Amino acid sequence: MGIGLKLIELLLRQKLLDKGIKGELNTPLIVSYAVTKACNLRCLHCHVEAQEALANELGLGEAMRAIEEMASLGTQALIFSGGEPLLRKDFVLTLAEHCVDVGIIPAMLTNGILLNRKVALELKEAGIMAVGIPIDSSIPECHDKLRNVPGTFEKAVQAIKACLDVDLEVVITTMAMKDNFSNVPARIELIANLGADQVAVYDLVPVGRGKAVMDQAMDQTQRVSLIRYLQQVQETREMVFTMSGGLPLYPEIVSEMHRANDTKPKDLLLKQFWVDANVGCHAGIFYFSLRPNGDVYPCTFLPVKIGNIRERSLTDIWYNSKVLKELRERSLLKGKCGICEYRETCGGCRGRAYACTSDYLETDPVCLRELLIEERIHPSNIEKFGFCVG
Ligand code: SF4
Ligand code: SF4
Repeated sequence: MGIGLKLIELLLRQKLLDKGIKGELNTPLIVSYAVTKACNLRCLHCHVEAQEALANELGLGEAMRAIEEMASLGTQALIFSGGEPLLRKDFVLTLAEHCVDVGIIPAMLTNGILLNRKVALELKEAGIMAVGIPIDSSIPECHDKLRNVPGTFEKAVQAIKACLDVDLEVVITTMAMKDNFSNVPARIELIANLGADQVAVYDLVPVGRGKAVMDQAMDQTQRVSLIRYLQQVQETREMVFTMSGGLPLYPEIVSEMHRANDTKPKDLLLKQFWVDANVGCHAGIFYFSLRPNGDVYPCTFLPVKIGNIRERSLTDIWYNSKVLKELRERSLLKGKCGICEYRETCGGCRGRAYACTSDYLETDPVCLRELLIEERIHPSNIEKFGFCVG
């Protein structure tokens, strides 16, 4: 199916039918591809520890062949990330066009530093459907502190304006952390005033440089109050939210809250990243992450190498990886997740479990079970989840 038809199908499903992306189990519906490890920032929480480019990053032919293989595996959307993907702008533009040619919807995460009106137009013309740009505080100095370079807030704001100016869809990505937690309402106000209406809220997973700032991860009270707060925002504002970084059941929880309060938001989630399935952590089930050098991980937050596309085909890796087979078999989960009634529909964040215990099958220490029970979300009623991408 070409991109035009896919887009129409997505819009129909999400806008009119109140449904998300659909697909068979064990199909990599969404893939994130970090095109380079190079970055022009040194964000304190960066989970890939981006700095300089790797010497052996994939070339154009290799990346194009990988995209063709993704299409044959059933991938519907590919998110370019990094490092900073615009440091390989021409590479990304060519690959985005190739995605369109093979029927995959391309999107991109960027820090916005290199994104002006001209670049926004180039991205749009290449077929990029949405761009994720970070705003981590409404206070410029606080955003710049996390991003570790002065002036980045202003550049991100200009990048957002440039995209909106050329009608390129923008998703604001934002870190919810202890330090900047009280700023969330002001941030949402700022984002709305900029004219953006889609926000991906990230919870910190202790991976890469994120390990060093883990004392800044939200506590459970904050996490739950944030979920309740975002639901309340949707009662009065036309905004859509998802949560990334290990909270894939956010859509189900918040939609249940809306049902209970008899409120109807514009959409429950980011338009592109809502999937109809009773699967929580989708690492290795609906998603994988391709690294700059061709390594493949189950998730960008689960840095366990399951193969390299220079040595094995993606198809071979996807169907035959022992790690992926284990991730797909929830009866193998250990500890609290292993005996939980939400084992099949939540499964915990395998990335966080690995980061905290060195075992990707162990208990996820951040668990929303109490909230699920409080909101009367029975495992058999879970129908949808949001994508965690990075
Ligand atoms: S491991 Fe699973 S829950 Fe955690 S960030 Fe990745 S996809 Fe999301
Ligand atoms: S214990 Fe918590 S994190 Fe693990 S599967 Fe159950 S609800 Fe999910």
